[in-house]
Amino acid sequence: MLSFRLFITSLSQNCKHVIPSASAVSRKNYSSSMENEENYDVIVTGGGMVGTTMACALANNRRLEDKKVLLLEGSAKKEYKLQEQYSNRVVALNQETRTLLSSLGVWKHIEATRFCPVRKMQVWDAYSDAVITFDENHLSEELAYIVENDLLLDAINKQLSEKKNVTVAYESKIADVKLPKMSSEFATVQLQSGKQYRTRLLVGADGVNSLVRKAMGVAYPNWRYDQLGIVATLKLSEPTENVVAWQRFLPTGPIALLPLTDSLSSLVWSMTSEKAKELLQVTEEEFVDRVNEALWRDYPKNSIVEGGMQALRQLLAEFSLQTGVSRQLQPSIAAIVEGSRAAFPLGFGHAASYIRPGTVLIGDAAHRVHPLAGQGVNLGFGDVTVLTQILAEAVMDGGLINDMMYLEKYETLRQRHNVPTMLVIDALHRLYRGTATPIVLTRSLGLQLMNAIPQVKKILMDQAAGRTILKF
Ligand SMILES: Cc1cc2nc3c(=O)[nH]c(=O)nc-3n(C[C@H](O)[C@H](O)[C@H](O)COP(=O)(O)OP(=O)(O)OC[C@H]3O[C@@H](n4cnc5c(N)ncnc54)[C@H](O)[C@@H]3O)c2cc1C
Repeated sequence: MLSFRLFITSLSQNCKHVIPSASAVSRKNYSSSMENEENYDVIVTGGGMVGTTMACALANNRRLEDKKVLLLEGSAKKEYKLQEQYSNRVVALNQETRTLLSSLGVWKHIEATRFCPVRKMQVWDAYSDAVITFDENHLSEELAYIVENDLLLDAINKQLSEKKNVTVAYESKIADVKLPKMSSEFATVQLQSGKQYRTRLLVGADGVNSLVRKAMGVAYPNWRYDQLGIVATLKLSEPTENVVAWQRFLPTGPIALLPLTDSLSSLVWSMTSEKAKELLQVTEEEFVDRVNEALWRDYPKNSIVEGGMQALRQLLAEFSLQTGVSRQLQPSIAAIVEGSRAAFPLGFGHAASYIRPGTVLIGDAAHRVHPLAGQGVNLGFGDVTVLTQILAEAVMDGGLINDMMYLEKYETLRQRHNVPTMLVIDALHRLYRGTATPIVLTRSLGLQLMNAIPQVKKILMDQAAGRTILKF
């Protein structure tokens, strides 16, 4: 596999590498000869959740706090105002992300505003009785936290505004980037306005259509799922202690409910683009009926699958393992919060390399996944954690902030975590689209078996929590 080849290559390169001293690269290059250029140690392109957190993490790190950082965002600054109505764009954040946000002082703003902990997850198959549940007992901590995207970005920006060495430039759409051939040279960024900046290290956090990634010329295997993810805020038919994340795999795509309050949940429902466009047009009453149907409809059960599941249950019972019969009933939906429906295209993409001299990719610029596992932004936050640690290490060891040996280490560590996670997510997506008996039987037995073995569950939960990233 490509990533593992890269991993081996970069390991062997690491072994040969000698760390250059800071003085090995002439510092006088640092002052620009061009009048309209400004120089920065680091330029982060893209002020989304990941890019903004990167700027904040750089400024927050003791070893890096003297670095001059510029964050460039193409759109205008959005003033956040807490509304009574929840935003329809939310993310499920894992424990590693929470740890990062706490260490940056961001989490306290979220805590003081609103979020919802997830204490249990139930995932089940529409075509069989296979079910897997996760709860706090498996990890002795909350499984995830549901936070609105705009609140999260505002919380990061609040912290960032306290950092003296970071300049944030909004309405700064990048038109072109020129990347250095060697680490001793500078990257140049040109805005649509004509303004130019130079930097030792360009961090591409400019999302799925990253200009930085395109300028790097790296291979980017990617595909569209021909699916849209419909999001909406839903009112539950009965208020309850709403701390469960539900996901049902339908042949047309997964439907998930993420808890917001005792009476509200956030919907993420993936389906073909054609069906999604139709569902965006139907009345809100009709939409609620379709959601309830997706959550509750009985699909025809296949006798071979039933027989296989029954045999597995007997076998598990003999070993005193969980048979999976203790399924909790999913909620019903009473209404949709008016005007909260929207849809987003879904796809997969992975940059074969995250680095070039003086350049590094993070977040969706480097990798894009299907939202079925709620991992997209968590992978990006994992990039931020590791890149910050490694840049600090480079500086502490007397190297330059763009030292290739350290950037290679970042790439290796992140690809080792990101690639398997992404491949599993893509495989799940494909596996659950199939309705042929052998496919339904295989996945049902697999899911039931995973549910029965606590050690396997723990591994799955650790991976989802982002924990493997810290095993350097
Ligand atoms: C329906 C749905 C549900 C999801 N749910 C989850 C979830 O539960 N958990 C999870 O972890 N992830 C989830 N995700 C994924 C998550 O939303 C993304 O991974 C995340 O938004 C990526 O953040 P980012 O900062 O890397 O990129 P982006 O959010 O795309 O930010 C990129 C920024 O770069 C700026 N930019 C782009 N080009 C330029 C340019 N030329 N010049 C200047 N600025 C530029 C853009 O304006 C933007 O602000 C979900 C995604 C979808 C679609």
